[in-house]
Parts: sequence; C-alpha cells; structure tokens
Amino acid sequence: MTAASLEAKKREDPNKYRRRAGDDELEVDCDGDSDELFCDLLPHFSSLCVKCKVNEPVSGTSDDGRFCRECFRRNLYGKFKLAVTSNAMITPSDNLLVAFSSGSSSRVVLQFVHEMQQRAQKNFDASKDRSLQVFGVGVTFIDESAYHSVPSCEIDKAIEDIKSIVSNLAPPAKQLHVVLFESVFSLDSLDGKERLKTLEDSVSDATGKEDLLLHLRMLALQKVASENGYNRLVLGLCTSRIACHVITATVKGQGYSLPADVQYVDARWEIPVVLPLRDCLALELNMLCHLDGSDLLLTVEFSNGPCSGINGLVSSFVKLLQEENPSRECTIVRTAGKLTPFHFNRIPEFNDSNVPLATRRRQKRFNLKPSESISSESFCPLCFSPLSKSDLLSLSSCQNYDILDAACCSSCRFQIIPKDPSLMEHFLSVLPQPLLARAKNHSSLR
Ligand SMILES: [Zn+2]
Ligand SMILES: [Zn+2]
Repeated sequence: MTAASLEAKKREDPNKYRRRAGDDELEVDCDGDSDELFCDLLPHFSSLCVKCKVNEPVSGTSDDGRFCRECFRRNLYGKFKLAVTSNAMITPSDNLLVAFSSGSSSRVVLQFVHEMQQRAQKNFDASKDRSLQVFGVGVTFIDESAYHSVPSCEIDKAIEDIKSIVSNLAPPAKQLHVVLFESVFSLDSLDGKERLKTLEDSVSDATGKEDLLLHLRMLALQKVASENGYNRLVLGLCTSRIACHVITATVKGQGYSLPADVQYVDARWEIPVVLPLRDCLALELNMLCHLDGSDLLLTVEFSNGPCSGINGLVSSFVKLLQEENPSRECTIVRTAGKLTPFHFNRIPEFNDSNVPLATRRRQKRFNLKPSESISSESFCPLCFSPLSKSDLLSLSSCQNYDILDAACCSSCRFQIIPKDPSLMEHFLSVLPQPLLARAKNHSSLR
C-alpha cells in the first residue's frame, strides 16, 4: 500500500486506524505476556469511546455502546433532559419535591434536577430583566425504619448523611423534609407505629403486604408534597424498576390499569408525579454513582430485607433476562409503553402567563390528545388504580359487599383485603384516614 492510499483509507475510517495506533502501544506494554491473554484484552483496550472517539471507554451498557466517562454522563443527563423537556415536566414557576430513598436512582435524579436548577439560576442571574423565574426544589426522605427494623443508630447515621448530601447541593438551597413513614396514620408517631404494625399483620399475603406498604409510601409522599406547597413530585423510577412493574402487574391481573403506571407523567394524584429517569437503566445509574465517586454521588446503603412473593420473584427473573440480553428491560418498557395511556398521563395544560410560550407550545406538541387516551373516573381506594367498566359492573352486581371490598380493584381484593369478614372491621379501623375517605366517597358515588 502506498502512503497516499493509506492516507485515503485513514480518512474513510479514522477510528479503525486510531485503534491500530492504540494496538501498537499495547503491544509494547504487554511484551512477554501470552498471546492468548493478549487476544482477550485486545478488543477491550483497542476501541475508543463511540461518541468523542478520543477517550477510553468505561461502560459497556446495552444499546448505548461504549462511552468514556464524560460522554457516558452526558448521555445519561441527555436522556433525563429529553424526558423533562418533551413532557413539560418542569416549568419555571414549579416547586418540585424530589423523593429521595437514598439509592442510586433517586440520588441521580436529585443530582440532575439540581444541575438543571443551577443552570436556570445562572441564566436568571445573567438576564437583565429577570423575567424567568427559577423553579424551586425540595427533598423528602421517608424514614421507613418502622417496618424495616433498621437499628436506630444506622438510621440516624443515614439521616445525617442525607442532610449533608442535600446541603452540598446548594446554591440554590433545598429544604429537606425527613418524615416518619407511620405519619400517614396520625400525628402521634407511637400510635402510628402500632397501627402500621396491626395493618401489616392483618394482611396475610406476602405480596399484598409489600404492595400495601408501597401504596402507603405514595400516600406519605403526597402528604409531604401537599402540606409543604410543592406542585410536582419527582420519583427516580428507572427502566429496570418499571420493567419489573410491567411483569408483576400482568401477573396480578392489573392489565387495565398498567398503562397508567408506565408513562412519564402521572397526574391522577393531587400532586402530579413525574418520572424523568424512565429511559435510564438501573445498571447505568449505579455505574454513574460509581464513576462519579463518593464526593459527588454519595448514596446511603440500607440493609432492607429481601422482597418476597411475586415482586421478589419477578425482580430476580427480570435481572436474569437482562443478564442474558442487555436490552430486555428496555424492550419490556417500550412494549408496555405502546398501550393506550390514560387522560391523566400528562401535565394539565398551562394557561399561566408565567409559563414561557415555548414551553406551552412544546407541551401542546408532545402532550396526549384526548382521542389518544382512556378516560377513567373511578379509582381503587387502596392502590388508586383506575377501574375498568367491567370491574365496576361486576362489583355492583355483587350483593354482600363491604364498603371497601366493593370499591377495590380485583388485585387489592385478592391480595390485601382480609378474606374473613370478621377481620374486615378491624382492618378498616386501622386503615389511614385518606384511604378510608376514598372508599366512602367511592361507594356514595355508586
Ligand atoms: Zn467520549
Ligand atoms: Zn387496588
């Protein structure tokens, strides 16, 4: 090959030739090593970041290819940003509450929301007319030690760590609300603890127990948000968690309500819930925390007990699928995402003049049209899933129903509500007030 033709080939495929240059260096480093080992190492060391084509890659995640540290971070932030902007999740006048559970997903969502807020603050400071507000951010941590039996020294340490994480994410300063899980029952936490224990004990099914606690957690988050003047609740739910939910909901017979849970926005609640990490894998989020090191992305480890029942089985099943094929979780979520969403899977349209015109236009463009969504007026009082017409019909035809039994979805009836009618009164007596009120409201409607 002449020098000229080599130059031409380099121009055609620069990456290939840069890789060759890297090989030469490796050869020098590895002299004396066995050829077999050398061949094994070669593909790993010889390729470059697929994005910048300069740095060495650090990740090998699913369909994203292999990125260097900087490009990997930028790519993940890009997914977050796209989810936020295309669904008009955050507008300048919003006040967001980030639910921080101390794991990697919620740590990343908190970090990204902070970075976005910091950028907005910079723009605000730089603008002459100061016309654009900067959205507010608060953080909440629900202390679930009442049922996880975490030693109190461990939880105290965790709360101290969380306080320092949040105070380091300033400016702009963020308020932290540490809330006891049992506060969903009453203001007196001792009484609340007892009621939580009684309620837990009255559900015999392991899956039902876990699901009920999940519903109560949402109730607690909604309570913090609404009592402190927030208008959005940000959750760190990622693709992997949603994929597990798709399978468990299918197994539990929640097919009708499933589309409501897998979209970016869920405004069926008093405070609309947004999921900006819907397109990020748990693997990627863990890796980001790992790469960014303890200074920036410190997470707090909790020794929560293992999940049992359907939820635990499905999560180990999906983990196995993902190990076999790294795009499985995305495939599950993408498939479920094709189901027709509900009318509340969108941020209610703004008529607020404080919201920039560009944001309002974008929302109009991306938001669901009424014809593309299902409308639902009835919700299960326990899990707040939308109820299907056939659900409602079969319920109203059943004669000997209790107030709650009559109003619930089939999954809650099967898993959570006591089968024995004599236990029902007891169950109702320990149920948090908002859930009971929903059930009463529901039965009076019918
Ligand atoms: Zn790169
Ligand atoms: Zn339900």
